Amino acid sequence: MHKKFIVVTGGVLSGLGKGIAAASIGLLLQQYKVIPIKCDGYLNVDPGTMNPIEHGEVFVLDDGGEVDMDFGHYERFLNVDCKSDWSLTMGKIYRDIIEKERKGDFLGKNVQLIPDVTDLIQDKWVEIAEKENANVTLIEIGGTIGDIENELFVEAARQLKKRVGEENIIYIHLTYVPKPFGTDEQKSKPTQQSINLLREKGIFPDVIIGRCSEVLDNKIKEKISVYCDVDKGAVITGLDVNSVYKIPIRFNEENLCNIISSKLNINVNLNSEYDKWVNLTENLEKQECKVKIAICGKYTKLKDSYASIVEALNHCGAHLNCSVGVDFIDSDGLKDVSMIKDYGAVIIPGGFGKRGIDGKINVIKYCRENNIPLLGICYGMQLSIIEYARNLCGLGDANSTEIDENTNNPVIDLMPGQRNVQGKGATMRLGSYPAILKKESLMEGIYKLDNVSERHRHRYEVNPKFHSILQEKGLIFSGMSPDKTLVEFIELKDHDYFVGCQGHPELKSSLMKPAPLFYGLVKKALERNGKT
Ligand code: GLN
Repeated sequence: MHKKFIVVTGGVLSGLGKGIAAASIGLLLQQYKVIPIKCDGYLNVDPGTMNPIEHGEVFVLDDGGEVDMDFGHYERFLNVDCKSDWSLTMGKIYRDIIEKERKGDFLGKNVQLIPDVTDLIQDKWVEIAEKENANVTLIEIGGTIGDIENELFVEAARQLKKRVGEENIIYIHLTYVPKPFGTDEQKSKPTQQSINLLREKGIFPDVIIGRCSEVLDNKIKEKISVYCDVDKGAVITGLDVNSVYKIPIRFNEENLCNIISSKLNINVNLNSEYDKWVNLTENLEKQECKVKIAICGKYTKLKDSYASIVEALNHCGAHLNCSVGVDFIDSDGLKDVSMIKDYGAVIIPGGFGKRGIDGKINVIKYCRENNIPLLGICYGMQLSIIEYARNLCGLGDANSTEIDENTNNPVIDLMPGQRNVQGKGATMRLGSYPAILKKESLMEGIYKLDNVSERHRHRYEVNPKFHSILQEKGLIFSGMSPDKTLVEFIELKDHDYFVGCQGHPELKSSLMKPAPLFYGLVKKALERNGKT
């Protein structure tokens, strides 16, 4: 089979769910090897240096790449471990082109946006497809059509048709179909204008997905088809749904598999994995009981900051037949933490810096003392160590040097390898690292393995100088790095579920395979609900 390419663009508004639409298309093509590539117009080399409130969660890959949160959707939907090369930002592209120029690759030539930058972009797309031996390469172009910053990606996508042959590429455009209050009609004008913009750039879409609060009616499909020059059957609804996991199912009901099959001359067949997906999605609706989990952090103003955590909880719900309700509790200025008793369990997520840490430490203490299931993730684990050192090891000023450089008891500190690091981009301990779990620990029971790996994104570690006092006072290091120097997992003995993980277990969770630490937490939360 020839290598096939699907280019996904978006129009009218940002935030229509282009990443999820692209991932859903990929899921329907699971019989093939599908590789996603995400193109972002910003000039950061990667989103690792951006605040989650600006950009949503930073997703981390096995290979240590810090990438856009859309990769979270891709991994959750496509069952593939993505690679950092598949994340292309304009920052990366410009960095590479300037490096090439300095090396002399363009000697004697004037280096230009077209063709040099657009060629480089296409080279990268095609190289990834070749290297991965992908049957289908999904190229998602970030932003909204018309944005200046994405123009070069759009132009490269237009040119790609010549390079790969028109029978091997399709263009799918996600747009918005409003039904304004007071009119009883779905409106096509924004779509027409968005497609006009796309066509001005030389891209003639093969499929249009109209995001709408209701199923697109015949009339509007007809209208879009006529004005935008696409087959009527290739205008499909991107229906608002209460769970993103339903989107591939909706697309399938809209006949997307056949549309893609005929346009790319392939034969899309859904397999048993798809049936499993459908069953689990149905489970998300069945929900025999409810459980409420508190996420206590400082990036609560933008829910996307904790997107993978929320998804990991949903995955558990589908397997445990319960609905998992999430409340975000802002740790900044949080004094009275007694509301924590109303939750089945608590998560202290990852984070950086001083703001909001006292609130989190109070919540951790409350969970420890009141036997409330707690999962501390990365910073959450580090703060659990600080709380334990202060209140149970007699180290009243125990702290992380990230918070107080001059503390007498730096229970969390930089390791030698991090001390002289100058730059901030891509310099943390990043990516998957293995850990050996303690025999007969709670952790070993949760993972049902003794050798595990989770993805990391941090600079600081539990300081080896304090390992012995913490353990003497009862804290269990239930997972260590293979060389036994770094604490990767902690737990407590006389507690139902007081668990910390230096990695981010949420990043490997999927609907098919929920992350064990979340599964264990939700299970305990259900038991606790039964108790109170
Ligand atoms: N700020 C902490 C560190 O750098 C934790 C980071 C995180 O939670 N991802 O070690």
